[in-house]
Amino acid sequence: MPRSPKHIGSLSHPEPGKRPKETRQNSHRRGYTRHWGKARARFLQEHPLCRMCLSMGQTQPAQCVDHIQPHRGNKQLFWDESNWQPLCNSCHSAKTRREQLNGDV
Ligand SMILES: [Zn+2]
Repeated sequence: MPRSPKHIGSLSHPEPGKRPKETRQNSHRRGYTRHWGKARARFLQEHPLCRMCLSMGQTQPAQCVDHIQPHRGNKQLFWDESNWQPLCNSCHSAKTRREQLNGDV
């Protein structure tokens, strides 16, 4: 009894014109575009350590890029690299909490 040959190499090639959907509308609207994602990744590559931890003599890998001065939608502040600093998650949330407590800035 002959066995029907299995189809080998019948790779389905990806359909053209299909792109993953943008699902993160909210962050997009706040200015966190794909462009930002790239700039952020590059910045973290150049500055891989958390700046606040470093100032306390600790080396902690940075996980996010923080705006030293909150940009509040200000494009110029947002894209000004001298206003960026690499932070680890815990320093970032501590800073955010402090900013919310202070209420000024
Ligand atoms: Zn840190």
